[in-house]
Amino acid sequence: MQLTFDAIRQKTGNRYDCLHYIDGKYQPSQSGTTFRNINPATEEVIGLVAEGKKEEIDLAVTAARKALNGSWKKMTAHDRAAVIRRIGDIILEKQEELAYLESVDTGKPLWLSKKIDIPRAAYNFHFFADYIRSLGTEAFEMDDVAINYSVRRPVGVIGLINPWNLPLLLLTWKLAPCLAGGNTAVIKPAESTPLTATLLGEICKEAGVPDGVVNIVHGFGPDSAGSALSEHPDVDAISFTGETTTGKVIMRAASQTLKKLSYELGGKNPNIIFADSDLDEVIETTLKSSFINQGEVCLCGSRIYVERLVYDEFLQKFVEKTKTLKVGNPFDPLTNVGALVTEEHYERVNSYIQLAREEGGQILTGGKRPEGLEKGYYLEPTIIVGLNQNCRVVREEIFGPVVTVLPFDTEDEVIERANDTHYGLSATIWTNDLRRAHRVAGQIEAGIIWVNTWFLRDLRTPFGGMKQSGIGREGGMHSFEFYTELKNICIKL
Ligand code: NAD
Repeated sequence: MQLTFDAIRQKTGNRYDCLHYIDGKYQPSQSGTTFRNINPATEEVIGLVAEGKKEEIDLAVTAARKALNGSWKKMTAHDRAAVIRRIGDIILEKQEELAYLESVDTGKPLWLSKKIDIPRAAYNFHFFADYIRSLGTEAFEMDDVAINYSVRRPVGVIGLINPWNLPLLLLTWKLAPCLAGGNTAVIKPAESTPLTATLLGEICKEAGVPDGVVNIVHGFGPDSAGSALSEHPDVDAISFTGETTTGKVIMRAASQTLKKLSYELGGKNPNIIFADSDLDEVIETTLKSSFINQGEVCLCGSRIYVERLVYDEFLQKFVEKTKTLKVGNPFDPLTNVGALVTEEHYERVNSYIQLAREEGGQILTGGKRPEGLEKGYYLEPTIIVGLNQNCRVVREEIFGPVVTVLPFDTEDEVIERANDTHYGLSATIWTNDLRRAHRVAGQIEAGIIWVNTWFLRDLRTPFGGMKQSGIGREGGMHSFEFYTELKNICIKL
């Protein structure tokens, strides 16, 4: 595709190189170091990405600190909202290009990028722009002795560290409230999916975001841009989405200067299906909650528990429907499942399929590369049965198109098994019994519970995980709790 963006320099054919965006300018690394970005669907090099380290993070943090006290600070919330809204508008104007690049970078089907990733990225800005226009504060009168009122102020320079599965969507889910709160940002995109994040610099500039307010530094995690950002003494807070193990490393680094932390981490989400539910509807949604985006969504329900009364019927229909899913070229509109994001991740997901065999599991469908696809990190949607609750495949996050299905007999038993994990991100419950829906939803240890649906999102609601799936919540006011400091002012009358 011919791009209208200047930011990604197109060399020959479909080759896109990515530079850092620091203080309003695209620039290479000080050392000139780059790394290769690979198209997971073809295994071809997409382009070279500037590799940032401590030097680039230092430059970006300095620019962000300066910008915090510049014209950005003087903008009224109303004007800031207009700029933030404009970012969303430009994303929509350029959605064809952005969707194309998102699919080249991640391997996800183009229709999915067009339907979810890019429109939702635009909506993140529209939502938070509108939100600050009506945001109030609280006041408490102490009879005629004093009056207290609170004001919200920016936290400062915020590091936004992002994963690869929904690159633009998740990055903007952080950046929009970060900007709405009046902060400045240093963004570290995932190393395997740098394309759309790179373009965000140009989009912000066009929208009127002052230089230095948004900075983007590419690179890796350990001993690279990621660790330099989380260790940086002049960064006030880190908002991180990624693996639980990475979150622990960042927490150690951030503890040196007691940075505020917002964490959206891994999950191993239960999908609980009671016999009284509408099985056809369950299967239609469970196909999505298992395999959409190649199963690379933190909210996917990878542990499926089915009441024994309908276990056989569910499996027969679920396997049958799964076999109809088309795996392949992300640019084919009929493709349901694209390529996994990197070779390393592909190997990791495959290692879990091997482990399932070793643990005594039976693969009912999938478990291998689809025939006729020699190149690309493609894997057939995989359904595994015959494992027990203690198997690693049932307990560990796989983050690919792989689900386990286990039968259960009683409500208490399935609640106990659903909660038997150190994760607590989301859960889905299928039942037509109203009382049971409330009863079970109330007892499941997860931050997000869906009943008779999945991935239905209202951006005003709290989003985040319990236990080792996260710290804090994002969404509506919950985002502002993180991206602003609340200050109480007490005036004696
Ligand atoms: P990851 O933890 O490997 O990487 C995420 C980001 O952290 C990348 O930008 C990476 O470069 C950076 N990073 C890695 N090591 C670092 C370090 N030592 N210091 C600083 N930064 C470092 O995660 P991933 O593989 O990109 O994403 C998949 C994971 O993200 C899964 O566990 C998934 O569940 C989780 N996830 C959670 C949510 C949610 O909302 N809870 C959403 C999407 C993904």
